[in-house]
Amino acid sequence: MRRFLCPNCNNQIHFENTQCVSCGSGLAYMPLQDQLVVLNVESAGSGGTPRPCANRDLIGCNWLCARDAQSKFCLSCLHTTKIPDTSDDERRQRWGRLERAKRRLFYALIKFGLPLAVERDKSEGALHFELLGDESHPNGNEKRVMTGHYNGRITINIDEADDAIREKKRTTLGEPYRTLIGHFRHEVAHYYWDRLIAGKDVISACRACFGDERQNYAEALKAYYINGPVSDWQQSYVSGYASAHPWEDFAETWAHYFHIVGGLETARAYGLNPQPSHPAAPVLAQLEDPYHVSDHLQLIQHWIPLTVAMNAMNRSMGISDYYPFVLSPRISEKLKFVHDLIEAQQQSIKGPPFNAE
Ligand SMILES: [Zn+2]
Ligand SMILES: [Zn+2]
Ligand SMILES: [Zn+2]
Repeated sequence: MRRFLCPNCNNQIHFENTQCVSCGSGLAYMPLQDQLVVLNVESAGSGGTPRPCANRDLIGCNWLCARDAQSKFCLSCLHTTKIPDTSDDERRQRWGRLERAKRRLFYALIKFGLPLAVERDKSEGALHFELLGDESHPNGNEKRVMTGHYNGRITINIDEADDAIREKKRTTLGEPYRTLIGHFRHEVAHYYWDRLIAGKDVISACRACFGDERQNYAEALKAYYINGPVSDWQQSYVSGYASAHPWEDFAETWAHYFHIVGGLETARAYGLNPQPSHPAAPVLAQLEDPYHVSDHLQLIQHWIPLTVAMNAMNRSMGISDYYPFVLSPRISEKLKFVHDLIEAQQQSIKGPPFNAE
């Protein structure tokens, strides 16, 4: 994530702020222009100026609608088609936390230039999100919401936005890392697999890298939950769960690629540029734009010293490691596949992918 300053007073602002804590200006973000602006509440929406997202007051969404957009929602919120009962304050807050994480996902999708609809797309397989909670009925029946992806629809159980519930699941499932943004990055990978790989020439390279996805998915997952990850999974998979099925391996690797690029962008914004520990290693210049590098090794070369430094920082505060992963050569090959796939998309698009003014 890049760094933001209040356009009125230059105070440091977080990506999520609706207001400057220093000068009190209302703030809004224009996603296609990657610009934070002062929101003039009286004039917003009139005379062709962009309107604030209709979710601004409800859950604090600070994005603006695209200019001339039909939707009353911003680019991120317009992709959400089902939400929990907002009269339930706890559920509304959980949904709001999920939308916060989702805006960071959309920020990255735009920066990568991945194909994305700028108006609500109701066609078969189009990307959309259902952010819902479990329901219990008076007759004792329970309707449980399963987090996952199916044919463009990404469902996330809003209970994941409760830190205590998510932490309990994280330890039960033996995961070193479980976050809202991680869920979004993982699930959207399944959508882009359908869109960029299924039925395309690249599928044979994908199978060579991740394995044949035609093996029975339901049985593979069942076996994973009974037996756990394959032994020695650390050599080939970024997480234990990635060893469950080639689709999950791709999704975990894709999410990891997003973690790396997003982390490197943040590091650049704050001038963090740790160097490799080996005294003979060449000095690494700061990466200008991690969303557009020609060689994935450039990312990894910068990422490893950064994670070593960040882990040391966390340990100095007595908290768990920032980066509880190890990148093996095999995982690096998989990250290269994701990098090349996204780069091919960037090159196939002539000019900006969106009609950004
Ligand atoms: Zn300010
Ligand atoms: Zn919004
Ligand atoms: Zn998955």
